[in-house]
Amino acid sequence: MPFDLNAINRPNIRNLVPYSSARDEFKGEASIFLDANENSLGSPLTRWYNRYPDPLQMKVKEKLSSIKGIAVPGIFLGNGSDEAIDIIFRAFCEPGMDNVIICPPTYGMYEVSANINNVFIKKITLTEAFQLDLEAIEEAIDINTKLIWLCSPNNPTGNSLDRTDIEIILNNFDGIVVIDEAYINFSKQRSFIPDLPDYPNLVILQTLSKAWGLAALRIGMAFANPGIINIMNRIKPPYNISQAAQELALEALDHVEEVNNMIRILVEERGKLSAALEQLPIVEKVYPTDANFLLVKTPEASRLYAYLAEKGIVVRNRSNVALCENCLRITVGTPSENMAVLKQIELYINT
Ligand SMILES: *Cc1c(COP(=O)(O)O)cnc(C)c1O
Repeated sequence: MPFDLNAINRPNIRNLVPYSSARDEFKGEASIFLDANENSLGSPLTRWYNRYPDPLQMKVKEKLSSIKGIAVPGIFLGNGSDEAIDIIFRAFCEPGMDNVIICPPTYGMYEVSANINNVFIKKITLTEAFQLDLEAIEEAIDINTKLIWLCSPNNPTGNSLDRTDIEIILNNFDGIVVIDEAYINFSKQRSFIPDLPDYPNLVILQTLSKAWGLAALRIGMAFANPGIINIMNRIKPPYNISQAAQELALEALDHVEEVNNMIRILVEERGKLSAALEQLPIVEKVYPTDANFLLVKTPEASRLYAYLAEKGIVVRNRSNVALCENCLRITVGTPSENMAVLKQIELYINT
């Protein structure tokens, strides 16, 4: 059965009459706005924060459109990727009935969001090489499987999923395939964005939280065919990105070069940190990574985690995660932070 957006869209969402804001209902030019119960006198802040922001964030999307090479109707903005993840569940999964496929070890929010929405989860663990188990995925798909969640580069393993495996899923699954590309800027792999026209069932997630350095702004992006984006926009809270966040994002998006510079430095630091860690006697393995973090295997993981925390250095203990036994996930820091973490690990070894 080929992909049919109208068949996969939940009936209540298909029939939904979305909230119509004051700004939706009047779009012409005017000088006096008495339609939204705002404070017409102004605000304690200097900017015009007394007005509701653009619900569809058109200015930010126009700038993203030229950076990403995708037309505005194919772009959704969420209050972080986490909001986009939740909205995808709500758009396509009937609670208590539908199921989704998740491939652990991976980003924890897919599972949490599925549980919040009472959607069944089929976990198809990655292979030992942290790649997709295509056969098991194919076997797991049933008539109620609506979404397959893929994360590439994957968190917490750091590697990219094989492109041909992803293509096989895109070509053979008649539900929606979500590819979370939160770390794509640190990878040599290319984004699936140019492939969007070929796949009406593809949703790509990216974020301003990682390479763009704007985790505090809470801006996540979804790219997909306009039919899917339209459904997501109908569900989202009307003003999900604040005016302040929109203004700051617009400003940040003018600085692509600066961001590319940071990416270059972080990738270089990643290589140095990885090589140095590999030299340490307690380190069993540093996994290859396409992201801004390293998965480090050491029999000392939990003790080392506690030691570092005591020294004021927080890393992520993934020891209890299947396939990541005895692993710490270490974010690549500034050059001096990376030196500090190495020095503390050496001190740990010598005590
Ligand atoms: C960090 C991260 C995100 C980003 O989430 P935001 O809500 O946009 O900050 C998304 N996906 C993965 C896999 C991540 O690791």
